[in-house]
Amino acid sequence: MEIQKQSKQQQQEEFALASVTELASSSTSLSRSDSHSAPVIARFSAGNGVAVLRFNRDSESTDSISVDVKTAQLSKLGPLQSVCIAEASGADTGKEKYSTGVTVQFRNEEESRAFHCAFEQWKKKDIVQGTLLPNGAVTSFKSKFEDKIEPSSAKMYFHYYGQLLHQQNMMQDYVRTGTYYAAVMENRVDFIDRVVVDVGAGSGILSLFAAQAGAKHVYAVEASEMAEYARKLIAGNPSLGERITVIKGKVEEVELPEKADILISEPMGTLLVNERMLESYVIARDRFLVPNGKMFPAVGRIHMAPFSDEYLFVEIANKALFWQQHKYFGVDLTPLYGSAFGGYFSQPVVDAFDPRLLVAPTISHDLDFTEIKEEDLYEIEIPLKFVASVGTRVHGLACWFDVLFNGSTVQRWLTTAPGAPTTHWYQLRCVLSQPLYVMAGQEITGQLRMVAHNAQSYTIYLTLSAKMWGPGAEQGGILQTSSCKLDLKEPYYRMSQPQAYAMAQDQQPHQPIHTQDIHIHAADDLEGPELIQPPPQNLDGQL
Ligand code: SAH
Repeated sequence: MEIQKQSKQQQQEEFALASVTELASSSTSLSRSDSHSAPVIARFSAGNGVAVLRFNRDSESTDSISVDVKTAQLSKLGPLQSVCIAEASGADTGKEKYSTGVTVQFRNEEESRAFHCAFEQWKKKDIVQGTLLPNGAVTSFKSKFEDKIEPSSAKMYFHYYGQLLHQQNMMQDYVRTGTYYAAVMENRVDFIDRVVVDVGAGSGILSLFAAQAGAKHVYAVEASEMAEYARKLIAGNPSLGERITVIKGKVEEVELPEKADILISEPMGTLLVNERMLESYVIARDRFLVPNGKMFPAVGRIHMAPFSDEYLFVEIANKALFWQQHKYFGVDLTPLYGSAFGGYFSQPVVDAFDPRLLVAPTISHDLDFTEIKEEDLYEIEIPLKFVASVGTRVHGLACWFDVLFNGSTVQRWLTTAPGAPTTHWYQLRCVLSQPLYVMAGQEITGQLRMVAHNAQSYTIYLTLSAKMWGPGAEQGGILQTSSCKLDLKEPYYRMSQPQAYAMAQDQQPHQPIHTQDIHIHAADDLEGPELIQPPPQNLDGQL
């Protein structure tokens, strides 16, 4: 079973070339007539026990030349030209067999070097790992990414990022893109004449920024089909594009011809860690960055504080009311009420909230991207300790993050804090189904534990406790504890209209609420904030 599954996994790596001409065949010549036409693509791929190098006019084209990397030789004819000769393959028909030869024209020297480097790597891979098994399947070389991530999750993930509309959504987050632009431009000294790797380049926008800042060369690594669009965008900006090479593939798998002086990336998901792309960023650091090289960003910080939001709590509790009907078309739905209630409270809430809902000073947890080990991101445990500033009901924990561009000239933070200009990440709140009642000055302790799962996200375990108040406090007794388990992959997107939201909150500033019983309204009665349709695939935290 497992082997069959593996044999289907096609690993690949792509390069754009200026032209390819088959030797001794005047009929096959693949070339780019101008910089806006689709480039000729050279694609290395592994499948059925052999590494194949295929030259296509574009990714869909059937007009192609293929060579078996194992038997092929690649030699340089000049700085921008190479020749690739491969032994004849195919069934032994007794007829004379002929070799295949192609001349390859590169667009620049960096691309030539990158291609030669990849060629050598693919040749090695084939010899070491391409052992054929009796059933014809191949013991594929599983990368770190494939070891951890469920293929169906990865497929959906890269399909999502392969679409321009989602890249546009990120680009149109002007707080995000503008902060990256400012951080790069203000710190030109870190980019001038440096080799840069853009980790998860998407549209290639950050590579273009790095080139604008004077980078010597940028390798834009992107695993999704967006790599094709990045090539087009970069070709359409030739003065910058001549210093950028797009490499299609996962950072865990591709080979680069040289080490990078600086990495640039935007690997942050909801709550910083969603999508598990920080792990890819750290792997890219270990694979490509020179010792003491720079990372943009270099540090991430998760901020947390307890919040009180009666309105949100009631809204979530009300969602399950549907299942309290005894006669729904004659059917008693109540056996599922508890499960539905639990289900709604296992969704972290993503929206922009008013910072006045926070009921204690914030604490934070730092992740140093330049130091952290990839494995440290598999499970993140954060001890919590707050002192309530008001008497109120605590409905859960609010979280957000920021990242630091630790430039040599200017240090700049990109923040997603409540009250700061809203980003497409918004903020995240973990809501407890059993709120805690606290007095001003009372200590709130607990833990936030995040455990990575193979669907590129995390299971969140939150526990909050309110310590005994008054004379009993000396004995350290715990008065109330409330816990919840949430799936970061399944958030409730609740993008409220800020106006309406602020008004609703203003009517009830953090006053103690003296009743433990919450009146739960029928769903129709609730004039909730307007909801925006959640995006598909739950990827919109990156997003
Ligand atoms: N850098 C772009 C896109 C950021 S979104 C920008 O700032 O606008 C993150 C991108 O990383 C997506 O396009 C996604 O496909 C890519 N990505 C995620 N994991 C990757 C991996 N392991 N290897 C290569 N690309 C990856």
